[in-house]
Amino acid sequence: MSTPHPAQLASESVRRIAPYAPGKPVSELARELGLEDIVKLASNENPLGASPAALAAMQAALGEAGIYPDGSGHALKQALATRYGLAPAQLTLGNGSNDVLVLLAEAFLTAGTEAVYSQYCFAVYPLAVQATGARAVVVPALPATHATMPLGHDLEAMLAAVTPATRLVFIANPNNPTGTWAPAAAVESFLARVPATTIVVLDEAYLEYALDAGCGDGLAWLARHPNLVVVRTFSKAYGLAALRVGFAASDPEVADVLNRIRQPFNVNSIALEGARVALADGDHIARSVALVAQERPRLARELAARGLRALPSAGNFLLVDIGGAQRAAALNGHLLRQGVIVRPVGNYGLAQYLRITVGLAQENDRLLAGVDAWREGGAR
Ligand SMILES: *Cc1c(COP(=O)(O)O)cnc(C)c1O
Repeated sequence: MSTPHPAQLASESVRRIAPYAPGKPVSELARELGLEDIVKLASNENPLGASPAALAAMQAALGEAGIYPDGSGHALKQALATRYGLAPAQLTLGNGSNDVLVLLAEAFLTAGTEAVYSQYCFAVYPLAVQATGARAVVVPALPATHATMPLGHDLEAMLAAVTPATRLVFIANPNNPTGTWAPAAAVESFLARVPATTIVVLDEAYLEYALDAGCGDGLAWLARHPNLVVVRTFSKAYGLAALRVGFAASDPEVADVLNRIRQPFNVNSIALEGARVALADGDHIARSVALVAQERPRLARELAARGLRALPSAGNFLLVDIGGAQRAAALNGHLLRQGVIVRPVGNYGLAQYLRITVGLAQENDRLLAGVDAWREGGAR
């Protein structure tokens, strides 16, 4: 009788999980190619980085690296509550919003329950759901030929997929990797009709960039919908991706459940302090949002002039149709050799596309020069 390998002792659903494919780190490409001047447009980071005030606060907080953080995150919760007109008891802090998404799955999903999300949704939803053994109900996205929101969430179909067994529905507004979004009225209508036995997880990781597009602010809907959980992050517009801070805002009793199962010290003190100060630096956020408002349409126009169509996007990135999986792989390889890292999205079932983060003007110009060189090399 053969002995099973200990790894096979993990649950069937855990063993079927496909690992998350992160953007290539700058240090890795530098090592591989011996290049120095590398531009990374692969992980939707803020090219302006963190707020200078937040950086200074974090430097000061390093002095306390020897002691445990405030496990309740009191100061950051106070700042968030004041800023957004919420009670601190409505908040759950996470080691990145990824942490909060996993907590939601752990708290509400078990084998025999269901979670609904869209095709081409953020990769963390399937990961978090699968680990619990719950059934994932993947709703087809709007078609690539859709007039206004190609590959976007089909909210009506998602609502129709909700059953009495559905505990969670994940809506990313805007969504990554597509950049697509749902107007505020459509989300409000969804919330008004979804049964109270289903929690709606509204992931607003890119909301700061999307307000002009009419996404609406999910926090405003919390008072009317105890089954709504709004998830936000400091990784994108706030430029604190390395620190790993995010939060959920919800009904206080839902927050209580999430806070019971989180690790007692899931957000470190440097991150707590950086996020608290970053929240108050409105100028830095305004600069970051203005950069994307300026560069996103320019990048889309310049790519279109080179025969590459970007989907409509309300995020700080563009999903760009390269016209075929082989072409996308070839362009990606070419850009890497030029020291430009973008994100292949074959793992999302979008192999003919590349996801490109909107960088500084000069970074976007580097990308465009790389595309030009690729086209001159024979690809068109
Ligand atoms: C980047 C991103 C997040 C944020 O992840 P963190 O764990 O907070 O860094 C959440 N949701 C979506 C859709 C994202 O693209």
